[in-house]
Amino acid sequence: MCGIFGCVLANGRAAPMIRTGLKKLEYRGYDSAGLATIYGGSIFVKKGKGKIDELHQELNFDDLPGAVGIGHTRWATHGAPSTVNAHPHLDCHGLVAVVHNGIIENFQRLREELEARGHVFKSRTDTEVIAHLIEEYLGMGKDLLQAVMDAAKRLKGSYAIAVIYSGEPDKIVVARNESPLVIGLGDGMNFVASDVAAFIEHTNRAIFLQNGDVGVVTADGVRLMRLE
Ligand code: GLU
Repeated sequence: MCGIFGCVLANGRAAPMIRTGLKKLEYRGYDSAGLATIYGGSIFVKKGKGKIDELHQELNFDDLPGAVGIGHTRWATHGAPSTVNAHPHLDCHGLVAVVHNGIIENFQRLREELEARGHVFKSRTDTEVIAHLIEEYLGMGKDLLQAVMDAAKRLKGSYAIAVIYSGEPDKIVVARNESPLVIGLGDGMNFVASDVAAFIEHTNRAIFLQNGDVGVVTADGVRLMRLE
C-alpha cells in the first residue's frame, strides 16, 4: 500500500509541503514517487523511480511552482516501477493530473475503449485510464467535480484518487472506494492524504472519507458529496 498527499494553500508554495507529507508516508512502502502542481494555468510534474530524498536531490521537487498540488508514493501493481509508470498521470493534453492508490480492475477494457477514441497512453498502469476518462468528461463541458464523479462511476476496483486540473486551479477533487483517504482541515490550508500522519504537524482536524465519498478541497473549505 502506498501513499497520497495533496495540499491547497491560500499562500505559499505547495511542493515542499507535499514532499514532507510524502516522507511521512514512507513507512507504507513504495518504489517510486512524484508530484504535480498548478501554476499560471499549467500543470508541472516531477516523478521517478526510487526514494523521495534521492529523487529530490536529482529533481528538486521543491521548485515546482504553485500553491496547489498532489503527490504520490507508488507500490506498483500494473506496470513495472519506472519513471513513466510513476504517478501523477496526465491526460492527453497535460491539463489533468491524477494520483491513485488501489487497483482498477476494469482498466484494460477502459483503456481499449479510450484508445479506440484516440486517447494516447504513456504508461502501463491501470491508473492512467482515470486521467483520460476525466479528460473526456471535461471535453463534454462538465466541471472537474462532475467529470471526476462520472469517471469514478466507470471504475471497478479499489481507489483513493486525488485530481488537479489546470482549468480549475484552486482545488483538488478526491474520491474514495476501498482505499483510505483523509481530508485535513488547516488554517488557510487544507490537505488530502492516505493517513493523518502526513498532515498531523499542520492540523489534527480530519474528515475520514467513506466509500462512495467525493470531495472538493480548496484553501478555505471542503465540500463533500456522495457518488450516486
Ligand atoms: N495500481 C496503481 C499502479 O500500479 C497504483 C498502485 C498504488 O496503489 O501505488 O500504479
